[in-house]
Amino acid sequence: MEKGKQNSKRTQHSNATSFVELGRKWNSEIRTANLPIYRASTVLFETLDQAHALAEAADRGEKGASHYGTIGTPTTFALREALEHIEGAGQDCRAALMPSGLMAITTLLLAYLKSGDHLLVTDSVYGPTRVFCNNMLSRLGVKTTYYDPTITPEKLEMFIQPGTRMIFLESPGSYTFEIQDVPGICAMAQRHNVMTVIDNAWGSPLFAKPFDWGVDASVLPLTKYWSGHADVLMGAVVVREEHWLPLWRTVRELGVSVGGDDAALILRGMRTIDVRMKRHQQNGLEIAYWLEQRPEVSSVLHPGLPSHPQHSLWKRDFKGSSGLFSFELKTDPEKKGLTLRQIAALCEGRRYFGIGYSWGGFESLIFPAQIGSLRSVMPWRGGPLIRLHIGLEDPADLIADLEEGFSAMACVS
Ligand SMILES: *Cc1c(COP(=O)(O)O)cnc(C)c1O
Repeated sequence: MEKGKQNSKRTQHSNATSFVELGRKWNSEIRTANLPIYRASTVLFETLDQAHALAEAADRGEKGASHYGTIGTPTTFALREALEHIEGAGQDCRAALMPSGLMAITTLLLAYLKSGDHLLVTDSVYGPTRVFCNNMLSRLGVKTTYYDPTITPEKLEMFIQPGTRMIFLESPGSYTFEIQDVPGICAMAQRHNVMTVIDNAWGSPLFAKPFDWGVDASVLPLTKYWSGHADVLMGAVVVREEHWLPLWRTVRELGVSVGGDDAALILRGMRTIDVRMKRHQQNGLEIAYWLEQRPEVSSVLHPGLPSHPQHSLWKRDFKGSSGLFSFELKTDPEKKGLTLRQIAALCEGRRYFGIGYSWGGFESLIFPAQIGSLRSVMPWRGGPLIRLHIGLEDPADLIADLEEGFSAMACVS
């Protein structure tokens, strides 16, 4: 431990000074498997010149340069570098962190759009993204047009106007799991100098590599599979190098930042993501095939099933499937469809399936999809939709649990 300052005449510090000074330094030779976790608002400098130089480098968004906690610490830089390598898949990419996946989306939209611009958004987009476009962006003078996610790139090209700046994709779509022709749309957008962005929540990081498909930016809700433990919220935007500066400036101007503890939790989740996602895939497919055989179910919306309408696109572009999908319940026209009480009987009281939104953790979840207000181009015309997240439990237990749910549903008239 550091000795007291040699040039100080006072050898005994008062308590007040000791409280502040002690326990801040430890010169250690001990090496650990994980990085220490940095918690910081204040960053200290040796000289004023260094302070100024670091502030300028941080403003330029240079790697590893920080003069203040909001810019970053070794913990957040380490996570950003990992995201750049993994999501960027060998291409020249930069990553920024946000305190939630939704804030990654909103920061990105604010970074690249301005008053008078036009934005194309898939009709199957995550609900809160739609709310932000319809409210905040509309107030700022940005106009949004929604398009059918199953549209061909040639038809989507007809939606491009002189002011169109961006196409916002999500594949598969939230709740309804349509697969988009992302490579085709990106090639078309490039010809018009329109930026392409994808929300890569479902397939990231194992099963979808959107920079190989040609996107300019990818949004990662790290809250989901990257964390994998349902105990931390975070998001990231990964962009091609040429798009980095507008994003970084917006991150700085909005004051978007994350803490070291949360970043360390995402790094910890990342260590096991390969084994976790493969198990989510395997378990998910097992339950999906089982559901397809159930008399109560009219369809299972899972891109990995041959019955999925865009299964061939999924097979062409994806490397696997995660544990999130929906199924559609049969309705008997004689009985005027299912009642809310019947759907509640299916979902409530399950032993392993929790009722909850934020999927991607180790645990299974069930939730009825309420997409009435979430579609403007393609209203959902099927039966009641139930979304499942299949966790890491034994699939036999999950099947028994769902079987009980179907029995409970049948008992409600
Ligand atoms: C959950 C989710 C988000 C938002 O992530 P949060 O960290 O919960 O804000 C964004 N997009 C999709 C598709 C999601 O499922």
